[in-house]
Amino acid sequence: MFGYLWDTTLAIGFSNYFYFIIRCGCRRAQVHYLRHKCLFIELREQVSERKERKNYYPVKKGFLILFILFVSVFPLSAQKKALVSLKFSSQENSLRVVLEAEESFLKRTKVTTSSTQIRAEFPEPYTLTPPQGPPFELITAEKSLVLNFKEAGEIKMFQLPSPARLVFDIQKSDIQKKELSAEKQQVPVLARGLCVDAGHGGYDFGITYGTSSEKEVMLSLAKDLNSFLARKGKKSFLTRRADQYISISERINFVNQKIPDVFISLHASTSQGFVLYSPRFEEQASIEAGDFYSLSSRQRKYVQKSKALAGSIGKALKDEFKAEIIQREMPLPILNSVASPCVLVELPSPKYVLYDQQMREKVIKAFIHGVAAYEQ
Ligand SMILES: [Zn+2]
Repeated sequence: MFGYLWDTTLAIGFSNYFYFIIRCGCRRAQVHYLRHKCLFIELREQVSERKERKNYYPVKKGFLILFILFVSVFPLSAQKKALVSLKFSSQENSLRVVLEAEESFLKRTKVTTSSTQIRAEFPEPYTLTPPQGPPFELITAEKSLVLNFKEAGEIKMFQLPSPARLVFDIQKSDIQKKELSAEKQQVPVLARGLCVDAGHGGYDFGITYGTSSEKEVMLSLAKDLNSFLARKGKKSFLTRRADQYISISERINFVNQKIPDVFISLHASTSQGFVLYSPRFEEQASIEAGDFYSLSSRQRKYVQKSKALAGSIGKALKDEFKAEIIQREMPLPILNSVASPCVLVELPSPKYVLYDQQMREKVIKAFIHGVAAYEQ
């Protein structure tokens, strides 16, 4: 009789379990199953009593224990959490914070704000995709998320659909505005923009060291500089955006179409040092170059500006890296043929320097200071 009861209970148990997983999600199935678990334990005890009298039904008992273990452990590991992604973007005087999740989840989320805090209470546990380097403190708990800001500001909240998100605009206080305007003075004007040339590309690797190559390092640096300027609302152009071969004349044509305020060509040196090249004209070389002569003449009226630019960037690199900077004048086609103030910068070889994010940020900082000082 008990054997029959076991079979029935187990069968109902299994089918209900999967039914609840499908209909209600794992959490409800788990709650439902905890009731079944109690029933099983009761029944098990009754069976043990009977078994003491008669060696009764040993195989099914083992199976039951396994089954109880299964229903206790499985739902916990398989429990699905809501996905919440947190993003931010900084403007001159404001900060925008965006919380993205499923619409029904966000509708049930309670948000409270103060001048220095945003607190979100979620309806269920969640998994957060946090942003990198947020300008605020982030405190997470099982069902809540708190953002603490260093400075007080006015926080406005609104919702946007597809994808569903909560948007917070934080207007910065006057003190921060002043700090930002001081920082802004160091950002160059660049009315016509800056053109960055990542040297080499495609089958032309430039200098290589281990898995690192000049073409890759210079491309990531050029892209970082480009996005830094874009964030500051400055125009910036890249001669290449991918790992592709582009000839010197194609690069020159690109620069001469854009007519930027400043052109910087990025390379690596074979040494640990920085070398800056500015254009130089040699009459003899120009005549020999033939076709290049007409192109070369484009740089003539910018030569002095190019020298000033190289001097200014050289000083900024020296200040930033506390290193000796070598400055040279060379009749390089890419310099002599562009109709803009220009400089070719050779950065230390990847053999001696790891171009991680921190290093790239330092180089960009020096470039920005150098160009800003040159413009004044
Ligand atoms: Zn190179």
